[in-house]
Amino acid sequence: MRTHGDILLISCYELGHQPFHLALLSAMLQQAGYTPVSVDTAVETLTDDVIRRARLVAISVPMHTALRLGQQVALRVRTINPSATICFYGLYALLNADYLLQETIDAAIGGEYEGPFLNLVSALEQGKTETLPGVASRQSNSGPWIKRTPFTIPARQHLPSPDRYARLETNGKALLAGYTETTRGCKHTCLHCPITPIYNGRFFAIPAEIVLADIRAQVNQGVSHITFGDPDFFNGPGHAMRITRALHEEFPDITFDATIKIEHLLKHQHLLPELKSRGCSFIVSAVESLNDNVLRRLDKGHTSADIAAAFDLMAQVGISLRPSLMPFSPWETLESYITLLNFFEGRRLIEQVDPVHFSIRLLVPPGSALLDTVESKQWLCELDSAAFTYRWRHPDWRMDALHKKVTRVAEEAERTKSNPIETFFLIKAMALAAAGKDLKVVEAVQEYGTPRVLPHLTESWFC
Ligand code: SF4
Repeated sequence: MRTHGDILLISCYELGHQPFHLALLSAMLQQAGYTPVSVDTAVETLTDDVIRRARLVAISVPMHTALRLGQQVALRVRTINPSATICFYGLYALLNADYLLQETIDAAIGGEYEGPFLNLVSALEQGKTETLPGVASRQSNSGPWIKRTPFTIPARQHLPSPDRYARLETNGKALLAGYTETTRGCKHTCLHCPITPIYNGRFFAIPAEIVLADIRAQVNQGVSHITFGDPDFFNGPGHAMRITRALHEEFPDITFDATIKIEHLLKHQHLLPELKSRGCSFIVSAVESLNDNVLRRLDKGHTSADIAAAFDLMAQVGISLRPSLMPFSPWETLESYITLLNFFEGRRLIEQVDPVHFSIRLLVPPGSALLDTVESKQWLCELDSAAFTYRWRHPDWRMDALHKKVTRVAEEAERTKSNPIETFFLIKAMALAAAGKDLKVVEAVQEYGTPRVLPHLTESWFC
């Protein structure tokens, strides 16, 4: 394992940014004296030659899209280099381990993956086949590894440069954007969230000096904006503010965005003006739905009234709030879907939503906390292991039909970079048509007027 290329680290998709999880594992391995090769298939070609040389292939699967792409890569590795050990690591690795371990992979690590991965490398070096804590294999699955990791500065020097990734569009410019995290895990346990079955309410703060060193390295590579990709930046508000203060002091011109839940925006609203003054361009928040029944079923910790209050608050502070949504769940109704659209139209917030969010449908991976709810039996169907989710059907067939149509429109809009206002009204016209009503799209777009141009990243969010 000590020869260059023995260990191959692969990322397939990380929301259009330089792969953080690849950089983290690479740093740990280098510190331990290994010389891994890293390939980000989102922007680089993975050659057969590199695959053939590898003895251990680790594929990062931090989200559902990455998992689907990672599975294709793993199958290719298996064909080209059948003797290589294949390990999936990251949030989605363990949730689907039972299925993946049948044929596709040899090991899966969830939670704080660095330590168990180093143990796996060492066991392979010594030819040991024993069960390793935190490493799921065909023999055993001891669950996620939730113990504090000795964090290191991500190794970015062998990754593709930031100009290969998403940019921040602001004031007519497209700026290079970087990414880091200040915490891992989440102290909340929303029922639909893939973090819940892995971290179960735990989170870890990454030392500020490591976060700042990572930002410094990216600024040296030319980035002018940083995304703090923590599940929730305000899980530790004191930690978050210490880092933003230090960031602003060292790099006063660098801007940033972060993800903060509605509940935390309201609770820590006194911190928001300072976030703004220290360079916050926008905040992403998992609004999910405006239907209080949906929010209750997900245990989101906020209500529709809280959402309205948060949008008011953010408008006062002058930070654009970009919601992530999940409007297709068993409890959303056609009426509440239309109410959601009306909310964004009526408040002139359409520019703040990436159209893909109007198409997001609840995923129920194996292990999801939703499976433990008694009433899930009413709507849940069989597990579709190959799709990494349980199937479910909406009690109102119109919602399933609408979801298919909205998905097609949102995907096409993303592909062709269409006008988001027009896309919004196309979606609204479809929703109204499902309810037997009519909307003239061209007129609605004209009536909405000239859209505001707000700071945003050029890559839409996909889970
Ligand atoms: S949805 Fe957000 S707040 Fe809820 S558990 Fe997931 S990361 Fe935490």
